[in-house]
Amino acid sequence: MELPDVVKIPIEQIKEQDIIDVDVGINKLAVLTDGIEVKEIDNPKLIAKYEKGIKTLQKQLSKSKKHSYNRNKIRKKLAKKQRKLANARKDNLHKASNQIVESGNIIVFEDLNVQGMVQNHNLAKSISDASWNKLMDMCDYKAENAGKYTQFVDPRDTSQLCSRCGAAVKKDLSIRIHSCNNCGLTIDRDLNAALNIRERYMQLAWNSVKMPVDAPTTAHSIEQVGAMKQEEII
Ligand SMILES: [Zn+2]
Repeated sequence: MELPDVVKIPIEQIKEQDIIDVDVGINKLAVLTDGIEVKEIDNPKLIAKYEKGIKTLQKQLSKSKKHSYNRNKIRKKLAKKQRKLANARKDNLHKASNQIVESGNIIVFEDLNVQGMVQNHNLAKSISDASWNKLMDMCDYKAENAGKYTQFVDPRDTSQLCSRCGAAVKKDLSIRIHSCNNCGLTIDRDLNAALNIRERYMQLAWNSVKMPVDAPTTAHSIEQVGAMKQEEII
């Protein structure tokens, strides 16, 4: 599997404090972190309310008599609710993308096209996928307009690996705390995932450094700097 595109900015222009990692999810629309603090962006209750109303109406519609007055009435109500839901979602994505783009200069996402290949799809997930893709598109153009950058990294195992020692710490979605038996790191699950995403971004950035052909031992020194970088994060 190919890694996402190499970073768009030269390594010397990257400041760690400029990077914001964004982890999109089903329960929370997005979890942001600058590597220290975690901020959550919720899906508003309004959206849940519309979704519930739509489900109820869909059930009523399927039970109603064909060509009846009542069926027509339900259909109209359903269309109105669906329109409202679509507008509320769009509105929310605009707010969320504004918040994300304001939070940092380099916005790092997990590449969902890679994730989609390794995860099972269900309905809730595909609805979320559509929202996530829209959210990323919005962030992408808003960042560009603001002279900022978005970047996508390989998302595999970011939630399962320890961000300090790299050990695999298996956990299902109900386990919210990352607790590593190998090195003792105990932190919020989302923060651990975000730190892994950040680390992958930094690796991409280091790997994208082009060495001058005549520079002796430069490749070696880059490795050393990369290792130092890794220690800094720890
Ligand atoms: Zn560990």
